[in-house]
Amino acid sequence: MTSVAAYAAPSEAAPLEKTMIERRELGSLDVLIDIAFAGICHSDIHTVRGDWGPQSYPLAPGHEITGTVAAVGADVTKHAIGDRVGVGCLVNSCGECRSCLQGEEQFCARGAVFTYGSTDRDGTVTQGGYSEQVVVTESFVVRIPDSLPLDAAAPLLCAGITAYSPLRRWNVGPGTRVAVVGLGGLGHMGVQIAHALGAEVTVLSQTLSKKDDGLRLGADDYRATSDPDTFRALGRSFDVILNTVSAVIDMRSYLGLLDVGGTMVCVGAPGEPLPVQVMSLIGGRRSLAGSNIGGIGETQEMLDFCAEHGIVAEIEVIPASEINAAYERVLASDVRYRFVIDAATIGE
Ligand code: NAP
Ligand code: ZN
Repeated sequence: MTSVAAYAAPSEAAPLEKTMIERRELGSLDVLIDIAFAGICHSDIHTVRGDWGPQSYPLAPGHEITGTVAAVGADVTKHAIGDRVGVGCLVNSCGECRSCLQGEEQFCARGAVFTYGSTDRDGTVTQGGYSEQVVVTESFVVRIPDSLPLDAAAPLLCAGITAYSPLRRWNVGPGTRVAVVGLGGLGHMGVQIAHALGAEVTVLSQTLSKKDDGLRLGADDYRATSDPDTFRALGRSFDVILNTVSAVIDMRSYLGLLDVGGTMVCVGAPGEPLPVQVMSLIGGRRSLAGSNIGGIGETQEMLDFCAEHGIVAEIEVIPASEINAAYERVLASDVRYRFVIDAATIGE
């Protein structure tokens, strides 16, 4: 075991603090990564604060990791020392079940091992990317294309793939009318990717305060959901709604924005139930769906797509000492559009 500096939550009610965590010795198929940057995802906040159920503490979050390979195990073939690499939300899975064989490791029947707060195959609890180094089995490490900077690429590892996967699955392309609800980390990736896929994109945000940014990121239209006229004017206007909101929204109003046969895909994951009137679905043969990040192969595909289209996250790089303040800003929807921790400041 090697000790590395990290920022971890000591309990669900306490702020994150600097601590030391253990990384396993390099196994034959493992890659040791010197972490350069780690994005702050709203899921980090939900998890450490217990919104999704009890956790084991101390817990270092972080699943939007970029860095360079510092060492490789004897049998590693995919990565070499010095390579620019990334790790997202997944670090292991059984590799044998139907989902794993289909490249959808996130749905592993034996339980995917998530980057933090998950029990790994060796029985230890995983610790995430708010740290100086991480050891990950090579098949869960992706390549960062040369044209993407490591800081602005970090959020692609979760926010990017979480937007990309459902947009592809629901065949978003030229002629598709897409609404992205919430212009935060996931939402601002959804707007850029849907636009690059050729769709007609509308942002539905609480206010118009970020309208200029939304249009610059590729939206064709931008509406405030605090204005009741929005829901009257846009009834039956969309084929796909990507719901990225981290809180409960009034589903009846939003489902009414779907055209006949349209689908709302929920990626936002509030801890409380989202109440749905079945009539909102029946009345327009509408579908309500969910989507969970994406598989490792699809994550590489998304990174290559972003490189080809010049897409990265809009970021605010912060020192580790500002993580707790950044959490408060994310909770207040005051993020433009992802905080990224400079890992060089973690050990300071
Ligand atoms: P974020 O940066 O905080 O963005 C969420 C956005 O939702 C906010 O910027 C805000 O946008 C809107 N919002 C927040 N509270 C709202 C409210 N009460 N009513 C209406 N809109 C509200 O968070 P994120 O990192 O993008 O994550 C969003 C959600 O997705 C979280 O629940 C996270 O856990 C989840 N997530 C899921 C997956 C998955 O695989 N399914 C992966 C990653 C994250 P406006 O200011 O524009 O209104
Ligand atoms: Zn995330």
